[in-house]
Amino acid sequence: MNILRVALDVPLDKHFDYLDGGHTAKVGQRVLVPFGKRQVIGIVMERVSLSDVPDTRLKDIYKVFVDEAPILPVTLKLLKFCADYYQYPLGQALLAILPAKLRAPELAYLPKLTAYVLTAQGREVGLEAIPKRALVQRKLYAALNQPLSTVSLNALTKGWQPAIKAMLQAGWVASQEIAKTPVVAEAPAPSTAPELNTDQQMALQALLADGQQFKVWLLHGITGSGKTEVYMQLLQTVLETPQAQALVLVPEINLTPQLEARFRARFPVLPMVMLHSQMNDSERLHGWMMAQNGDARIVIGTRLSVFTPMPNLAVIVVDEEHDASYKQQDGMRYSARDVAVMRGKMANVPVLLGSATPALETWHNAQIKRYGLLEIKQRAVFGALMPDIRCVDVRQLPPEQALSPTLLTAMQQRLDREEQSLIFINRRGYSPVLLCHACAWVAPCKRCSSRLVVHLRDKRLRCHHCGHEQRPPQQCPLCGNADLRPAGHGTQRLEENLAKHFPHARILRVDRDSMRKKGAVAEMSRQVQAQEVDILVGTQILAKGHDFPHLTLVGVVDTDSALFSPDFRAAEKLFAQLMQVAGRAGRADKAGEVLIQTAFPDHALFQALQTHDYSTFADNLLQERQMAGFPPYCFEALLRAEAQQYDLVAKFLAKAINAVNDIPHQLTVYDPVRARMERLKSMERAQVLVQSSSRQKLQVFLQAWVTLLRALPEANKVRWSVDVDPQEF
Ligand code: ADP
Ligand code: ZN
Ligand code: ZN
Repeated sequence: MNILRVALDVPLDKHFDYLDGGHTAKVGQRVLVPFGKRQVIGIVMERVSLSDVPDTRLKDIYKVFVDEAPILPVTLKLLKFCADYYQYPLGQALLAILPAKLRAPELAYLPKLTAYVLTAQGREVGLEAIPKRALVQRKLYAALNQPLSTVSLNALTKGWQPAIKAMLQAGWVASQEIAKTPVVAEAPAPSTAPELNTDQQMALQALLADGQQFKVWLLHGITGSGKTEVYMQLLQTVLETPQAQALVLVPEINLTPQLEARFRARFPVLPMVMLHSQMNDSERLHGWMMAQNGDARIVIGTRLSVFTPMPNLAVIVVDEEHDASYKQQDGMRYSARDVAVMRGKMANVPVLLGSATPALETWHNAQIKRYGLLEIKQRAVFGALMPDIRCVDVRQLPPEQALSPTLLTAMQQRLDREEQSLIFINRRGYSPVLLCHACAWVAPCKRCSSRLVVHLRDKRLRCHHCGHEQRPPQQCPLCGNADLRPAGHGTQRLEENLAKHFPHARILRVDRDSMRKKGAVAEMSRQVQAQEVDILVGTQILAKGHDFPHLTLVGVVDTDSALFSPDFRAAEKLFAQLMQVAGRAGRADKAGEVLIQTAFPDHALFQALQTHDYSTFADNLLQERQMAGFPPYCFEALLRAEAQQYDLVAKFLAKAINAVNDIPHQLTVYDPVRARMERLKSMERAQVLVQSSSRQKLQVFLQAWVTLLRALPEANKVRWSVDVDPQEF
């Protein structure tokens, strides 16, 4: 038994055999091995006595990272399941979930971090002892109640080094090496939990009564109904068990700081780690280690953190479970929500999915009682009303006029009352196209089948799909006309319009362009809370999570295109998005108003929105899906392919279909079609859809098919991938 079967980050569906060479590597342990001319990191999957490779050609592993705890068996099991389910090589899947520092051979040694913390003497002298001018020192003093590593200090403030040095010399601060959790010595008093209202109480009781076993629950309640409060009180009880750990998934990093603040205030003594893509490699590694060795009691993170190893996992919460960002769109195309459910099943712990507008798949599961349904029907804060949602008919409005008189009047009222308005438009930039008024030419992207967006301030045209940029042409390349004009509205143009209408208002634009800098979203949030802003103009960045008590009007501009999209999920997504923006209006003691500008005010979607009736809307959509045979009434997989020449793509997909000799009953393999974005980044794209009424049959088919595909000579000439449960087409 001296042969080790090792998983490597290579695009092959197999492991590689090495000789143990006197190391005593355990399953799950990281090893450094020779691979071709390189050294790579691998994970030991198995110890065997026989290999297909002749003994003489087997190589020794270089190194076993003996000091490290092996990857947990449950983590390996979860990854194995995902690799099978999503048709992705296990080695690649496994290495991809590791923090970068555990993957790179040159960084293969775990660094120790230095941390600083106040000494008893430091605590005694108090903040008053530090001069008012010494801003950095004062800031550090306030933060160093618990040990902070150099990485955390970097994140906290610039130029902390001299300040720390001074405090070290004064004996107020001590340094220590940490490889493990900082333990909080003196905890601040926890924020007190409010008493739950009846709906919340019923939800919590149902969750607790079911005990510590696998069950999926859907917590359905509009924004502000107090779902987060239910999560926290659930954790409060679950985490009373010594060592129990909770995993909380959130869709976006922008939302983690607020959630983190609430959880930290509620659970000041429980070690908590954040895991998201804006953390640097060391922070990520430390979070991972703390979770894996059981020190972190709460892990809050985005998509990828669903794989965080947690030996004492006791509960999983997925907030905003319908959110599209839970789906990974490259590499292993997993859905973090679905993986969370599978993980809960393997660990035999409850999984709580929360949303105001659940994914139809989830809603369906609740309707057929596969999931437990918990509903909160009102807003949590006493007296907080549901926003009043109305449509504004814009059929008479000139096309270049983005804002209707009704909306403008409502905004003026807000300005008079010193309240805030938010104008929501899902398009950044100045205007979506540059149009020739003589021949109707619009500026296209050279690399994609899309149009270039006008960014007037930078005098650039930009593709929002591939990032391509150019100067606007002086004249139309088709007809030579020099009258090229931006057509339609984006955030920048709307901002400009608003400034004309309301010259004295303080207007803030919030989109990916204006929020690029780190911390920009937090600063925006602060400005709005402090009432330094009257009008917000922005994209969906604004739709989520922010709590703006003085915001009483939301105007929605230009959403009609989504009503007639070929994407069968478009209505579901639009409803979710509009519910979310509507949720920004009127919290606390001020009733909110939502005005949606549309040319289709009678559309069923708006009717449902006006009555806040998600469930009727969802039930209708489900009926439509059932009749059309769409998910969740069937299961889908997409074979995607792309190459510089369309020829190669067509050939590959034709061969792929030919490779199927008999198509099982209950399964349909469709003809190849072009992707919705036919060209992206100079790649021609097409795809084959596979549908089945049986998930099992689809899985068996895909397994066999992918093996055949890998063997096709054409497979090496295109980039291809399999997307199980695809969300985009
Ligand atoms: P959601 O997660 O559904 O958007 P939150 O949990 O954030 O809702 O609750 C919205 C607001 O109501 C928060 O400020 C929260 O502190 C408050 N809140 C929640 N539940 C209660 C309650 N039972 N009593 C008083 N305030 C509550
Ligand atoms: Zn022209
Ligand atoms: Zn492009």
